[in-house]
This record gives sequence, C-alpha cells and structure tokens, in this order.
Amino acid sequence: MKEQLRRLVELQKVDDLLIDANRTLKSAPVQIEELDEQLNKFLSMLNKEKEHLEETLVWQRSQEQFLKEEQDRIQKTKQQLQQVKNAREYSAMQRQLESAKKAVGDREEEILRVLGAIEESRATLKRHEEEFNALEKEILEQKDDLQKEIDEAKAKKESMAARRKEACSDIDDKYLMQFERIADRIQPAIVEAVDGVCTGCHMSIRPQQYNVLHSADTFEQCPRCQRFIYLKSAVFDEDDEDEEETSSEE
Ligand SMILES: [Zn+2]
Repeated sequence: MKEQLRRLVELQKVDDLLIDANRTLKSAPVQIEELDEQLNKFLSMLNKEKEHLEETLVWQRSQEQFLKEEQDRIQKTKQQLQQVKNAREYSAMQRQLESAKKAVGDREEEILRVLGAIEESRATLKRHEEEFNALEKEILEQKDDLQKEIDEAKAKKESMAARRKEACSDIDDKYLMQFERIADRIQPAIVEAVDGVCTGCHMSIRPQQYNVLHSADTFEQCPRCQRFIYLKSAVFDEDDEDEEETSSEE
C-alpha cells in the first residue's frame, strides 16, 4: 500500500508539471497577443501623428505659395500705381495696396505660428519614436521569453506523457480510477496531511483518521475535499525523502 501511495504521489508530481505546462500553453499566447496589440496601438498613434504633421506641412506650403502670390500682386500694384494719373483711381488703388499689405502681414504671422507648431510636432514625434523603439525592443524580448516558455512547455508536455504512462502502469486500476475522478474535479488530487490538517483544504482531520494515516495501510480521503491524504513520514522512508525533495523541483 505504501508503494501504491508513493506511486500516486509520483503521478501527482507529473500531473502538477502537466497542469503547469498547460497553463503556460494557454496563457503565453494570449500574453503575446496582448503585447502585439500594445505595440500596434502605439504604432497607429505614431502614424496618426506623422499624418497630422504631413498635413500641416502641406498646409504651410500652400500658405507660403499664397504669400508669394500676394507679394507678387503687391509688386504689380505698386508698378501700376506709378502710372495712374487719376487721383480717385490712385487713392482706390492705394487702399487696395494697404489691405493687400495687411493680408500679407496676417499670413506671415500665421505661417510663423504654423512653423512653431511644426517644430513642436517634430520634437514630440521624435520623442514618441524613441519611446516606440524602446517599447518595441522590450516587447520583442518579452515575446522571445514567452515563446521560449511555450516551447519548453510543449517539450515538457511531450516528455511528461511518457512519464505519466509509466507512473500509471504500476498503480492499481481501482485506485487509479479514483485518483482520476478526484483529479478531474480538484487539483492536486493527493495531498499531505500535516499537523492533523489536510493541506489541500486546510481542514482538521479527526484524530482517529490521522492515526490511521501513520500506518499508511489504507487509502484515506479528506472528509471535506475528498482528496487522497497521506503522511509523508509514513509513506516515504527518510532515505528517499531527499530524493523526493529534489525531484519535486521544476
Ligand atoms: Zn481536504
């Protein structure tokens, strides 16, 4: 019976590793997706900023084109003005000239304002690009780590499948079925009892049952969570306890 209990504990160790591997296989791809999403969000923000800057540059160029046309017109009007003899016509043209000059002044001011905004946008864009590059590097590293975890979990799962089969082979069908039934419902399916308490659900075990555990002659279940319970000192000899400790490391 001790041997059977030991095998169940061994089987549980395999199952723990399998559960762990499955958890990684489920969560790591989701994490990778989230990281990609985070990066894409940043990238689309960056692209919007670039687009906006591009639009502003187009607008600035068109304003400069208008300015040039207006300045040319002023030049022309000035030349015409010299040839005008009629006083009324002269003052009308003079007024026209003044208002054209004012429009040029306004446009120059506007262009200066836009140039200031463009400079600011360029600086912000540069900063955001640097932030993006840093984030991208960080995310690529994280994704690399996650992919490694996935590969490891896959390899572990494969190796565990064989180990599990082997661990099951020496267990009595009756106990194995019961173990699987518990395992389907709750994990781990077999736990230690320590100081009179089931370490699965932390409920106290009746002293009578706790005494039975010392002999390790029967399969005992926790009355509350129904897990198999065992006493380490009763099931494992002191000699192989060390081995048990090291092999439980992942
Ligand atoms: Zn319990």
